[in-house]
Amino acid sequence: MEQTPQKLEMFYEGKAKKLYTTSDPDLVIAYFKDDATAFNAKKRGTIEDKGVVNNRISEIFFRLLEREGIKTHFVRRLNDREMLCRRLEIVPVEVVVRNILAGSMAKRLGREEGEALKRPVIEYYYKSDALDDPLINADHVLVFGWATTGELRRIDTLASRTNDIMRRFLDERGILLVDFKLEFGRHKGEILLGDEICPDTCRFWDKETRKKLDKDRFRRDLGEVEDAYHEMLARVSR
Ligand code: UDP
Repeated sequence: MEQTPQKLEMFYEGKAKKLYTTSDPDLVIAYFKDDATAFNAKKRGTIEDKGVVNNRISEIFFRLLEREGIKTHFVRRLNDREMLCRRLEIVPVEVVVRNILAGSMAKRLGREEGEALKRPVIEYYYKSDALDDPLINADHVLVFGWATTGELRRIDTLASRTNDIMRRFLDERGILLVDFKLEFGRHKGEILLGDEICPDTCRFWDKETRKKLDKDRFRRDLGEVEDAYHEMLARVSR
């Protein structure tokens, strides 16, 4: 195995992760925390072992996607809480893909959660804590220069292929992929899939019972939060 670069200094601390520079300027180390936030950090808590579980679940999804030809920032998992990643210049847009109506879309449109969408819907949100990540459209992304036309086309393609791959993988494990959020960035002139893919950033429902196995258990005080994260790790591990 290639040598692991030396961990240097923390250059970013987000709600769920810390990022460290390394002795290789092209690589960073992501450290997964147990801190949980919801509603733009208006609700805070910790989910025991969340960092460990999310690091492993993200590894499984990134490996799956890489096998299927999606380029990601994932290099390898280093230990329980750390992942070695390619350094990205992040595109400040959160890309949400939805298969079943839930969360903010259900609320915004005044509809019941759980309605199957007749085809996947892609949404963009501007990454800004100060503004509560407002919903935007493709014109906003282009006019404000957050990505070029070519980059946005690539992002859409990658988001849609990621949805197809994850949906099929999860369906075989008895899970419905309701919706999820992706982030992308530039690395050596190329758009790569970044961030993490885990129960913090996806909605997972059991196919039979429709039980929620994701961060909604924390957001909505449904209990059995840790159990849900462990259940998802068990499902994707087989
Ligand atoms: N999401 C996320 N980070 C955010 C907002 C949303 O990871 O800052 C994920 C969320 O877990 C869900 C999907 O994106 O899987 C769609 O979220 P939605 O817009 O419904 O927002 P929320 O439920 O957070 O109000």
